[in-house]
Formats: sequence, C-alpha cells, structure tokens
Amino acid sequence: MPILNKNLTSQLSSLSWNRAQPLIVVDADEVLLQFVCGLERFLASRNLWFDVVSYKLFGNIKEVGTNTPVSEDSVKLLLHDFFIEASHNLDPVPGASAALESFAARAQIVVLSNVPETQKTQRRDNLHQHGMPYPVVANEGLKDEAMAMMAAQTDAPVFLLDDITHHLKATKERLPHCHCIHIIGDPRLSALVPEQTTGTYRAADWDAASGYIDQVLIDYGL
Ligand SMILES: [Mg+2]
Repeated sequence: MPILNKNLTSQLSSLSWNRAQPLIVVDADEVLLQFVCGLERFLASRNLWFDVVSYKLFGNIKEVGTNTPVSEDSVKLLLHDFFIEASHNLDPVPGASAALESFAARAQIVVLSNVPETQKTQRRDNLHQHGMPYPVVANEGLKDEAMAMMAAQTDAPVFLLDDITHHLKATKERLPHCHCIHIIGDPRLSALVPEQTTGTYRAADWDAASGYIDQVLIDYGL
C-alpha cells in the first residue's frame, strides 16, 4: 500500500462529506482555468514564448527571436515564479463555471489541483472570482491516492475531470467505478492529443462533459 500523504489526509479531513451525494472532482489547470494562456502572458513579459507543438513545457519554452529552448532548470524556475506571480490571475475555461453550477445542488464538487500548497489560497480565490467557489485540495504527483480517499466518502457516483491522461489512467486502474472524463481547455493542446484514452470519456468541451455527467446521474436515478 502506498504511504498516505499526511498533508492530503489533513486537507481532506477539513471538508464535509455527504455519502448520498455524487462527487465531482475537477482539475484546475486547463480544465477550469486557462493555464497556457496565463503562462504565455507571463512568458511574454520575459521575452519568451511557448511553442505549442507537444503536451509538455520542457523544450517548448523558447526565447523570442532566436527560438532557442530554455534549459530544464530555467523552466523549473520560470514555473516557480509563474505560480507565485501570475497563477492567481488565470482566465476561466469557457463553460466551466455554468456547468459546475448546474450540478452544485445535487453533487459535491472538489477541485484537485497539483499546485504548491502555498498557492492554494490564491488558486481558490482565482476560482471564486470566476464563479467557482469550491474547496481546493492541493495534490502532488498522481491523483489516484487522493481520488481513492475521496471516493471512500460517498456511496454515489464519482467523477474525475482532468486534462492529463496519466491522472485519469491511474485513477481508473485503482477505482474502476470512477467516471473519468478527459477534457482539455486549450484548443491548441486539445488538437495534439489522440481522441480517446481507454476507460475514459473524451469531452470536446464543457457542454459535452456536462451532458455526460448529467446522463450518468440520470442513469443512477439522481
Ligand atoms: Mg491540468
């Protein structure tokens, strides 16, 4: 058994749970918030740009003019600065707020984000400002551990929406009953990723994701 992340345990114990209500767990970056567009604004202020040719940051952040990729160490430092300076000011992914609001009365909604815990309040405020006043859990690494802990709190259907396939795959392997939805906010990134990952539903946008969740809830009589 993996060792429980103590921090995760304390974060989750501070939330209230309802066993009868479905649980909708949502990633933030590129699901609720436009991470790439925010990063591009930040990079532009440093005379850099993000070349959207693959689903990774390393190797694709380049100097304006020379187009020389910056080193991996520089990318790590840039991301650190980005989270501190700009991650509280990201724009929402279209349709996210309205979709979640439509489920808020009949489901528990939790944002599970791989964000440094020191930035959790900023992230929560950023989401709140865009009409998404849901609890934020700061995760690290794969999300299946946090999903297993949260799924244990409900007897109703469980959903995970994420743009990163390895989070969905790990969760599906560990929790076969979890409805895993693959959604990518940025259309340029979305175009780079193959249509379907085994065991997951690929949603073109929030309308599609919302329709899928709604149908599952109807099928369960909820
Ligand atoms: Mg993400």
